[in-house]
Amino acid sequence: MRAVVKRGQRLELDEIVEPTPDKGQALVRTLRCGICGSDLHALHHMDKMVAERAGGTPRPLPDMVMGHEFCAEILDYGPDTPHRLKPGTRVVSVPVTNSSKGYHPVGYSPSAPGGFAECMLLDERLLLEVPNGLSDDLAALTEPFAVGAHAVARAALEPGSASLVIGCGPVGLAIIAALKIAGKGPVIAADFSPRRRAEAERMGADVVVDPAVDGPHRKWTDYGVPATEAEAHIARMAGKMHARPIVFECVGVPGMVQRIIEDCPPGAQIVVAGVCMEPDSFRPSMAITKQLNLEFVYGYTPDEFAATLREIAEGTVDAGRIITGTVDLGGVPQAFDDLSDPENHVKIMVDPTIA
Ligand SMILES: [Zn+2]
Repeated sequence: MRAVVKRGQRLELDEIVEPTPDKGQALVRTLRCGICGSDLHALHHMDKMVAERAGGTPRPLPDMVMGHEFCAEILDYGPDTPHRLKPGTRVVSVPVTNSSKGYHPVGYSPSAPGGFAECMLLDERLLLEVPNGLSDDLAALTEPFAVGAHAVARAALEPGSASLVIGCGPVGLAIIAALKIAGKGPVIAADFSPRRRAEAERMGADVVVDPAVDGPHRKWTDYGVPATEAEAHIARMAGKMHARPIVFECVGVPGMVQRIIEDCPPGAQIVVAGVCMEPDSFRPSMAITKQLNLEFVYGYTPDEFAATLREIAEGTVDAGRIITGTVDLGGVPQAFDDLSDPENHVKIMVDPTIA
């Protein structure tokens, strides 16, 4: 089968052996798969990160096929596997698969090729049928939007909590959508890119800020959140209470956490969703005196994933608007390059069925 293989820091279109389903697995045909920011990070940093963790010098990892935001069609099942859904059924799934060798993250393991290939193996138990009429594109967006739902579920939002979303790429946009679905507001969104600010506004952000022009943290006072410890003290003395402010960090570059610690209001919770794959540091003393809460979030639960599929199917969230391009397998390496410019693209979908 055709697949885009990650070899070190390169992506190459190649022919690889079609996988054979093991007990409990379904063989599926990939219909659509989104390119994730994590894929871009992984292409450039994964080898180094794995080597650092192992305490060695960087060396290329075994070849693997990325892609974890997919919609697929069931082709066949492994031996002794319940045929719960008929072959031909379109499905989405949490990107984890099981085999006799254990569990593997689909798209991030040499043992579990992902959606930038014609076929994949998935865990039969995790398959969710795509509701009738929902397009392959929209179904494949379940994964990235579930990331937003999970981040919001983990945030310590109180009634009336104002949120600031820093970074309006796919993760930031998914968080804005999830906040709006949950009826949590107001939402301030900040991004240097005009394109992403426009997307944030359409996704439902109440205020969008260009950090090059205006400090995003200056907006807190508009929502009754004291910006400094002194203001917070005065507000407390006056008996004025305010809901806990929440900052969602969706950039994932070194220095962001420290920057937010310095600039955010006292008592805030910082929800870190940006995947920074390089060493980073922050000064705890300021976080301590401001009594901040740092919450790191990752992935989603199967329930959040299923709920997100329902929200997209019901049209509660206009997920499809983040799609800015579609490529065939041969176009994947160029698409990775194109995604590095936020003015060009938000989400590029891969259609492996295009011959
Ligand atoms: Zn992803």
